[in-house]
Amino acid sequence: MRLLLVEDDLDLGDGIRIALRDQGVDVVWVRRLEQAATALEAGGWDMVLLDLGLPDGDGLTLLRRLRTGQRLPAIILSARDALRDRLRGLDEGADDYLVKPFALEELLSRVRALARRSGLGDADEGLRLRGLVVHEATRQAGLNGQPVSLSRSEFDLLALLLKRSGRVQTRHALEEHVLRGGTSNDSNVLDVHISNLRRKIGPGYIRTVRGIGYVIDAVPLEAA
Ligand code: CA
Repeated sequence: MRLLLVEDDLDLGDGIRIALRDQGVDVVWVRRLEQAATALEAGGWDMVLLDLGLPDGDGLTLLRRLRTGQRLPAIILSARDALRDRLRGLDEGADDYLVKPFALEELLSRVRALARRSGLGDADEGLRLRGLVVHEATRQAGLNGQPVSLSRSEFDLLALLLKRSGRVQTRHALEEHVLRGGTSNDSNVLDVHISNLRRKIGPGYIRTVRGIGYVIDAVPLEAA
């Protein structure tokens, strides 16, 4: 699960980041509204934890923007504890609202609960689509019952595309997530991995969206 943490308090942000990372969550932490907006625009997120009182604005404006775009599970973390504030946050589209100060254990528990409600996680089941299966816990992939040998990057790429099947993933998001953002000098790397993946799993899964990125469609592609 890839989670965006928006929190300007250094101690709290660092504590949350470490606690989530220890749970196997892929966390990116930003401290300003503007950075958060840029990150969300790039896409590729499974959940957002959002502080409301940020140095460059109110987190609620971000929530409003989120609501008009792609649905993204969101938990508000705020010191505003009035009922009015909580209701407003939930009305603006947050799935949950945690009042500061809170115990990290409670935050982790709520993140897990929201992940379950949103259909994220469940590594044991594996990600499955038309004969293709990916087990993230054991990092094994298979096609029509036969194991498929993938490099680390190929595996990460396939798992991400499968997890978000039906949603186009931008080149930027894929490079950030799968290639750890280390490809700005060589924009070919992503295409090479995709090409290798297609060779290994067949051409019928990954579709190129010109100028944007790649997607694994939930329904089969027409035979070329
Ligand atoms: Ca704050």
